[in-house]
Amino acid sequence: MSKSKALYIHVPFCASVCAYCDFYRFRYNSDRADLWLAQVRKDLNNIQDEIATVYIGGGTPSVLSVPQLEGLLECTERFLPVKEFTVECNPESVTAEKAGILRKYDVNRVSLGAQAFDDGMLKKLGRRHTSSDVLKAMKILREAGITNISLDLMYSLPEQSLQDWKDTLKKAVNAEPSHISVYSLTVEEGSRFYAEGKEPLDNETEYEMYDTAIRFLESSGYKQYEISNFAKNGLESEHNKVYWYYGDFIGIGPGASGKENGVRYTVKPDLKGYLEGKREREDIPLSEKDERFEAVMMGLRLNQGIDLNAYAETFKVRLEEYYRDAVTKHISQGNLEMADGFLRATRQGRFILHDVLVDFLE
Ligand code: SF4
Repeated sequence: MSKSKALYIHVPFCASVCAYCDFYRFRYNSDRADLWLAQVRKDLNNIQDEIATVYIGGGTPSVLSVPQLEGLLECTERFLPVKEFTVECNPESVTAEKAGILRKYDVNRVSLGAQAFDDGMLKKLGRRHTSSDVLKAMKILREAGITNISLDLMYSLPEQSLQDWKDTLKKAVNAEPSHISVYSLTVEEGSRFYAEGKEPLDNETEYEMYDTAIRFLESSGYKQYEISNFAKNGLESEHNKVYWYYGDFIGIGPGASGKENGVRYTVKPDLKGYLEGKREREDIPLSEKDERFEAVMMGLRLNQGIDLNAYAETFKVRLEEYYRDAVTKHISQGNLEMADGFLRATRQGRFILHDVLVDFLE
């Protein structure tokens, strides 16, 4: 057995396609989903590692039929118990029957794609649910015994005002999820928004919305622990923390990414080939230099920052010496701070993390 890893399973099916989405997904089709499941079962059976967390994402895992969802969860049983088992759901496809199945197979966290609490905006985004569907889904999940619920919210949306965003945040907090993730819109090539020439809001408004989210969520009891993530009562995402701590994770299914034993990979986004039993991967072997940098890139996303002793133990160099120029520069500019054995981005630094990281590239 190797050191325990996180496991990510990508469900590449959705009921329809959202206006901003360029993820690897297809319109749900029951026969195709059955074939996909048969292949995923083989991949899961081949895993020899000890698994610490499971995350089923997509796509829309909750679009699977009840027998398909149960079939998928059955294949994960041999990894149980795990520290955290998350399934992404879209509000309109959460039913009491599906919630009961999630619970039966030890799913203890659901990440719900709420995105906004403004029905007009949800329609523009091409979402299939309304804001009341989000509340209904939360109620169903809680009644089934799943109380650790995270809501995903989006900001910097075309024609969204600061007041709209504040209303969304307020309604989200009123629903009392244990965790909230906030993401600004990026208009990716391949999305409908891109084809329509839609653009996110200007940088200044985007920063104002982000800053508003931090202030409002923190004052409502949600502690920011990562650039986009806020948790109540310490219920941080254990699975995502594996990424930020630069741990290893296994990616299953076409379009899934993984990182194992010094290789970052994506399972080729080729559903047809996958259904035929092909397992092509796009591998990127990581050099020592790559890993040292990527660990900084991920670790600085966390509010607690990077544990300098743990970094030295893993990479056999002291971060503050290896990247002396970048660290000195950004501490003097107020973007980074070093305290209690951690190097972390300041609030100002988190706003411009991308620019800070450029100086860590060799
Ligand atoms: S945003 Fe999510 S639900 Fe919408 S099409 Fe993309 S993967 Fe599917």
